[in-house]
Amino acid sequence: MNVSGGKLVHCLSFDVEEHFQVSAFESPVRRSKWGQFESRIHKNTDKILGLLGSRQVRATFFVLGWVAERYPEIVRSIAAEGHEVASHGYGHELITCQTPVNFRDDIRKAKIILEGILGQPVYGYRAPSFSITRDTVWALPILVEEGYVYDSSLFPILHDRYGMREANPICHRLETTAGPLWELPPSTISILGIRFPVAGGGYFRLLPYTILRNFLIRLEQMGQPLVMYLHPWEFDVDQPRMEGSLLSRFRHYINLDKTEGRLKRLLSDFSFAPICEAIRPIAEMCRKNPESLLVGKQEPKCHAPVSYSDTHLSLPR
Ligand SMILES: [Zn+2]
Repeated sequence: MNVSGGKLVHCLSFDVEEHFQVSAFESPVRRSKWGQFESRIHKNTDKILGLLGSRQVRATFFVLGWVAERYPEIVRSIAAEGHEVASHGYGHELITCQTPVNFRDDIRKAKIILEGILGQPVYGYRAPSFSITRDTVWALPILVEEGYVYDSSLFPILHDRYGMREANPICHRLETTAGPLWELPPSTISILGIRFPVAGGGYFRLLPYTILRNFLIRLEQMGQPLVMYLHPWEFDVDQPRMEGSLLSRFRHYINLDKTEGRLKRLLSDFSFAPICEAIRPIAEMCRKNPESLLVGKQEPKCHAPVSYSDTHLSLPR
């Protein structure tokens, strides 16, 4: 892994989507009205870019294809600041609700849009709500076939909507039937044999920062690069409130006013870089033959269905 000035370099990421696109509030009716909601993505993304720029920190932005298609200037602004642009898929539909054919179309469409704007390959992917689970591991070789080098969708926790409790919790290389794929699970910590998420999102806003920081230091001392994630809407205290279950509303709106201050403290306490630079083997894969990673440049491979244990090859812990 990458070390700078004796400090481990970690991965900071943002899933760039509108406040009304989150899976917790998903419904066919709301999806049909996406075009009618007030867009707040410019303001919220600019806030993050300003915050990172003032501290000279670079990160990875997993941009939703739907957003990139409508607002390509956001993608250009992110790239102009030296950040990595990666893919959050196109339509933010849970993989658990997609067929392999739908999934391939979705990630290909997003890659075409992003690479068309950037003029360079997109290496990374993160599924909506981390929805690559034991039931959807078929997605992993498809990612390789579509030119992705790494994935950050397997969340090694027990959760009502996502997660694969038994997944390897640290950055590792998977061998899929279509070739290697690096996996970057969001950071978790094991307490009395149970894995708790400490990576970002609602967990980042819920826990007092000093407690979170102690957990993150513990992971750093174990030599594990942190994989943190946040969303632009988490910086938007005034966003319109959506209807949804009490639990969804709690997770989405809790402590929104604390995100910015906590991120500032996180940036002071830890060193970060984009994923395609922070994880050395990924950096090497991206550098080797970038043209071959452009969408449509891969040889289609015929692959049999795979299970996670078949593809799993972990790094020494
Ligand atoms: Zn998302």
